[in-house]
Amino acid sequence: DAAIRIENLSKTYAGGKQALNDVSFEVPRGQIFGLLGPNGAGKSTLINILAGLVVKSGGKVTVWGFDIDEHPRNAKRSIGVVPQEIIFDPFFTPRETLEIQAGLYGIAPNERQSDALLAAMHLTDKAKAYSRTLSGGMKRRLLVAKAMVHSPPILVLDEPTAGVDVELRRQLWDYVHKLHAQGVTIVLTTHYLEEAEQLCDRIAIINHGKVIANEPTRELISKA
Ligand code: ADP
Ligand code: ADP
Repeated sequence: DAAIRIENLSKTYAGGKQALNDVSFEVPRGQIFGLLGPNGAGKSTLINILAGLVVKSGGKVTVWGFDIDEHPRNAKRSIGVVPQEIIFDPFFTPRETLEIQAGLYGIAPNERQSDALLAAMHLTDKAKAYSRTLSGGMKRRLLVAKAMVHSPPILVLDEPTAGVDVELRRQLWDYVHKLHAQGVTIVLTTHYLEEAEQLCDRIAIINHGKVIANEPTRELISKA
């Protein structure tokens, strides 16, 4: 079964802008899947529907076998999303942020992995600082750790390298590759072809709310 199945998905925002128009594709389990397209193509809209932040207008979305309308909680448990916006409380520390998130998922204190996640994201030194004092790169890494608190089988990253320096990008890719090696399915959006080519097993190209290509990276490149 697919990690994510999207069937005839559409989204029209209040005001009439159609951001997604009859989009269908599958993300195979265990892959690094790239959603590539220019600004305004509809990538964030799609990610935000997966994250439950945007309500779709039509179509069907299944995450790890769970329909997001019929089994939203199970679908949400199967996915961790790293959004573009920085969303956590600036007056909690990174460690508190992860502990609170773990609590929301009902993870027992002795089963939480906050310290391991902070270490993986090179945030151990900042574990007890107010999150508001973190640099932009540190905040992004905290968001990745937060997305992985409940050990989901799928990690989705929305433009993870936008405005990110080389060092952080390298750390981020190292971590993504490590998760991938552990069997985690990765979905990321980008508007850099080069980035998608380097990282992804498979690439779907989205433009004006429509998927115009969806192929293994090698085949896509051989046609370019
Ligand atoms: P991308 O992530 O590929 O840049 P988006 O999904 O953010 O694309 O946007 C797709 C289209 O939908 C754009 O034309 C954008 O302006 C529009 N859009 C995005 N969010 C909203 C919103 N909340 N209300 C109205 N239009 C929106
Ligand atoms: P270094 O110079 O320390 O070897 P780089 O930053 O060049 O490190 O690359 C480290 C990792 O980051 C590689 O796996 C590479 O694929 C990835 N990477 C670096 N830059 C990009 C980029 N622009 N797009 C996609 N991946 C990148």
